[in-house]
Amino acid sequence: MVISAPSGGGKTVVRSGLLKLDKRFAFSVTCTTRPQRPGEVDGRDYYFVSAEQFGKLRKEGKLLEWAVVHGNYYGTPVKSVIEVLKKGRIPVMTIDVKGARSVKRLFPEAVTVFLLPPDLKTLVQRLRGRGEAPENVSVRLETARSEIKVASGFDYLVINDKLPEAVREVAAIADLETRKTGRNLDKVKAFRKQLGKKSHKP
Ligand code: ADP
Ligand code: 5GP
Repeated sequence: MVISAPSGGGKTVVRSGLLKLDKRFAFSVTCTTRPQRPGEVDGRDYYFVSAEQFGKLRKEGKLLEWAVVHGNYYGTPVKSVIEVLKKGRIPVMTIDVKGARSVKRLFPEAVTVFLLPPDLKTLVQRLRGRGEAPENVSVRLETARSEIKVASGFDYLVINDKLPEAVREVAAIADLETRKTGRNLDKVKAFRKQLGKKSHKP
């Protein structure tokens, strides 16, 4: 499950809510060259790497996708997604819109969700409330202009007004998606196998 939004749109808090709500979800940690912020933990929030380390991961094909966001490199290690899938859980990727497009191209079965605050005023308030300096708010709003243009390419749109509701809506999307026939053909096949070719008498 890939969640994108303009900066301040609520990716981080919706992801936390989702992980708390339901054990099916697990965060696939991504890596970045941006400096660690106070309170962030290496390996939990991001893998903080140098530009050289990032370049090496990229060259060795160890990144599922990567992008430059606000002058820093970000990328999803293939390993972090595989580890989650192997545990039978749903990897939650909170990445930028370019990354989301790359993932969808590689894995059409990935589900993409675009989060949007109810209005611009709320977005500005939330960015300020997060402690972003005025110049950072302007840069993020400028980027939002191009991000919003590609929202229509996402599978789902969730308005992040009341947080618990937004979290529930994203979980509901996962519920429906996991019930798609195409994702459950193994169960159909197993049942057909049990039926066999002969007719069964009750
Ligand atoms: P992103 O990860 O997309 O940049 P965040 O998750 O950091 O966005 O959210 C930006 C700020 O807005 C944070 O301070 C967060 O606590 C706040 N926020 C996000 N969603 C809501 C909401 N539904 N109601 C109130 N505050 C919110
Ligand atoms: P921040 O530095 O504020 O944590 O994140 C900046 C932006 O980079 C956010 O939109 C975030 O979702 C995105 N991002 C984080 N990790 C990745 C990643 O691995 N790939 C891509 N494409 N974007 C990412």
